Amino acid sequence: MASKYVIKLSNIISFFENDNNTIKKGENAFECSHVHQMQYDATLHTIRGDVQASMKNKNYKCEVKLSKNGGINEAKCSCPKGIKCHHIAALLLFGHYNLSVTDTICSWNAPKVKTDEVKTAEDWYPIKKYSALDAQLSEEELCALTTKLTVYGNTVGFTWLLQKGNSETDDELQNLLKT
Ligand SMILES: [Zn+2]
Repeated sequence: MASKYVIKLSNIISFFENDNNTIKKGENAFECSHVHQMQYDATLHTIRGDVQASMKNKNYKCEVKLSKNGGINEAKCSCPKGIKCHHIAALLLFGHYNLSVTDTICSWNAPKVKTDEVKTAEDWYPIKKYSALDAQLSEEELCALTTKLTVYGNTVGFTWLLQKGNSETDDELQNLLKT
């Protein structure tokens, strides 16, 4: 039975001459969606793609020429290494999983976050000012809360504060809730 894969894993491994480190790095880049786009042309047996540089906000351009039987003839990349780098490995893995022999001319574009700006964790997840409770509690609400807490006996930390007869109860509780 003919293979449905344009790029076989065995061909990737032999192209990298069992250089597992590079293949692993490529695998990481692929899994982190660092392959931003890929074009495949079946008549030219060519794959082109943009692969994000690790730790950098830029893309490298990779181009791979395949042989008719799915082998990898030639591959180059615009990164300093230029050949047999992990960007090429990532693109080939992307091709392995996304290309099938029925594809002729195909193009993929990963839905992309802009690469020209770096967002900090704070931009993504703005810090909200934490406030346990803004509302001033009414007598009834305090009472209801006390009742609920006393169900658990004295195991809840500030139950005792709420108990009747505790002189500073309200002030202390309000202070506690404000902090
Ligand atoms: Zn490269």
